[in-house]
Amino acid sequence: MPELPEVETVVRDLRPLIVGRTIAAIRTGSKQLRKPWSKHWETELIGSTVVGIRRRGKWILVDLDTGAILLVHLGMTGQFTAGPAGLPPPDHLHFAFAFADEHELRYRDVRRFGSVQWIASDALVQHAFGESLGPEPVDIPAEPFATAVRRSRRNLKAILLDQSILAGVGNIYADESLFRSRLHPQTLGSNLTRSKCDTLRLAIEAVIAQAIEYRGSTIRDYIGGSGLRGGFQDEFKVYGRTGEPCAACGTAIEMIRVAGRSSHFCPECQKKNPRR
Ligand SMILES: [Zn+2]
Repeated sequence: MPELPEVETVVRDLRPLIVGRTIAAIRTGSKQLRKPWSKHWETELIGSTVVGIRRRGKWILVDLDTGAILLVHLGMTGQFTAGPAGLPPPDHLHFAFAFADEHELRYRDVRRFGSVQWIASDALVQHAFGESLGPEPVDIPAEPFATAVRRSRRNLKAILLDQSILAGVGNIYADESLFRSRLHPQTLGSNLTRSKCDTLRLAIEAVIAQAIEYRGSTIRDYIGGSGLRGGFQDEFKVYGRTGEPCAACGTAIEMIRVAGRSSHFCPECQKKNPRR
C-alpha cells in the first residue's frame, strides 16, 4: 500500500510532466473505484489547465486553473503516471486524461481501492478526505507529538498508524521507525518518557526522508509518476524480514499482529518495556 514516500515520489515525478498542460479529453473505464465518478465532472475538467500538484498525507491534489482540484488516492494498488499518449492502454486502466499536446495522465488500479474525484474548490477538500489529518511527518512539531503519544493508552504501532496524529505513515514506515528508535510496537504510548518520544519522532523523520530519497518502496504494484519503481524495499531493517537476522544484533526478526496489522521487530533490540 503506498504510504507517504511513495505518494510524494508520484507527486514529484508528475510535477514536470503535467503542470502547464491542458486537459483536452477524458476516457474512463467501466468499473467503479472506491468513490463513484460523475460524468458531469468531465465537462468541468475539459479545458482546465494543471497549475500545480501537491500531497497531503497519502492524498494527491492536482490543482487546476479553475480553482478546482483533481483529488486522487492510490488505495492499495493505484498507479498515477504521465507520459506520451498513444501507448496501448494497460489492463485495469480507469482514467486517461489526454492533454492537448499528445501527453496523457493515467490512473491504473488493479484492486480498485483507490479513488479519483473532482472537487470544486480547496475549501471542500478537507471534507473530501473523510478523515482528520495530523501534521506531516517531515518536520513533526515536537511538543504536540510528545503530548499526543504520552497521553495515549494505545500501543505505539496503533498511534503511528493513526492519521490524525501523523498523516501519511502506514505499516512499513511505522515498523521501520520503531526499529530505528529501538521501541517495541506493543509499548504503550503512556509508558514513553519525553526523551523516548523525541527519539521516536526523529526516527520517523529520518526513515521517511530516506525512503523519499530512494523513491519509496516497491512491494507489489507501486511505481512513481514516471513509471519507475522505488528502491527502499532493499533497505528494510525489519519489514517483511521475518526470520532473517537483525542487522544490529543478529537475532531473528519476529512478526506479530499489533493493531490488526502485521508488525515486524527485533525481540532483542526492541524490548517491550524500555529502560528509562
Ligand atoms: Zn536486533
